[in-house]
Amino acid sequence: MSSKEIKNEKVFSYLEGLRGELPEIRAILLFGKNTATYKFALCHSLMNLNGDNLKTEIKYEDLSEDFVRELHKHHVSCPNQFNRKEPTKLEKAMDSHSRDEINFKRLLEIAQKDIYNNVFRAFQNLGDGTLSKKHMLFENHQSDKKLIITDRLAEILSDSSLVELVKRENQARWRVVEEAWSAGLSTNLVYDYEKQRFYRSDKKVNRVYLRSAVETLVPYQKGLCFFCSNLMTDIHGKEYELFPDVDHFFPLTLLSKEPILSVNPNGVWNLVIACNQCNRKEKRANVPAEKFYNKLLLRNERFAIEHSHGLKFSILNSLGLSKASQIKDKMALIWKTFETREKWSPK
Ligand SMILES: [Zn+2]
Repeated sequence: MSSKEIKNEKVFSYLEGLRGELPEIRAILLFGKNTATYKFALCHSLMNLNGDNLKTEIKYEDLSEDFVRELHKHHVSCPNQFNRKEPTKLEKAMDSHSRDEINFKRLLEIAQKDIYNNVFRAFQNLGDGTLSKKHMLFENHQSDKKLIITDRLAEILSDSSLVELVKRENQARWRVVEEAWSAGLSTNLVYDYEKQRFYRSDKKVNRVYLRSAVETLVPYQKGLCFFCSNLMTDIHGKEYELFPDVDHFFPLTLLSKEPILSVNPNGVWNLVIACNQCNRKEKRANVPAEKFYNKLLLRNERFAIEHSHGLKFSILNSLGLSKASQIKDKMALIWKTFETREKWSPK
């Protein structure tokens, strides 16, 4: 079971700043390479192991039915579950099942070949390596077709609110990948302040509202307020001081006075998630301090690690760039524009 550990510095630093129970599962969802959306289907099935289903040893077959049902559900609403030009055998089988030509049992048999050979083994790979023993969520015993759940995963599964959170973030992330693939990877997400949701700005006619901006972006911040680093939660309602708000890092009012920068102020590059206290009560139309600018730059560069996911293209589009290597200079130019303004930090 030896494989090389993660070397990518931006992924590594994400994991090393460990706090709470979710960094590993979030890292898998954010930085895992995908040629199919299997990771998300497996994450979904793993999260359904909570409650009475929670055991240390899990057989592949305990997960595969739920896995295939969820993958099929997504396939029905978006046929782009694989980043390939030609439909795969499994896609054809899912279509046949939708048309009632084959039953679920047959679909499961076809799917299991792929799942058993690839999915469990590849789940914990991200970027250029795999999760180290310390971070591992399960040990994969391929020859026995079973997983041994580690304490890291058991901790999540024994807390129903964490399970719900992971499920929501997993679905949001899954949607990003599907949309990127169905749009031929040119997805251009823009934020609608009124509706608090992303839409795809390359669809000019009908503005189609997508997932919540919070659930898409908050995993990159590990659930913490971008500024005060308190753990945010939406369970006490919108007026609660730690409710997660979408915040424009550089205020809209300032950016709209600088058309020369040719950036979209509502683009992903400029959005962070901040608690109600920081966003609505304190920061308002101020530019945050330099240490937060550096944090934003790192986060935006992390988006660009994603190989074929939508956020990389969204960030480049909204900054008016064509290559990830240009992010640093463009961000520096924006920062310089507001250099002389007084800067804000949370109290
Ligand atoms: Zn805050």
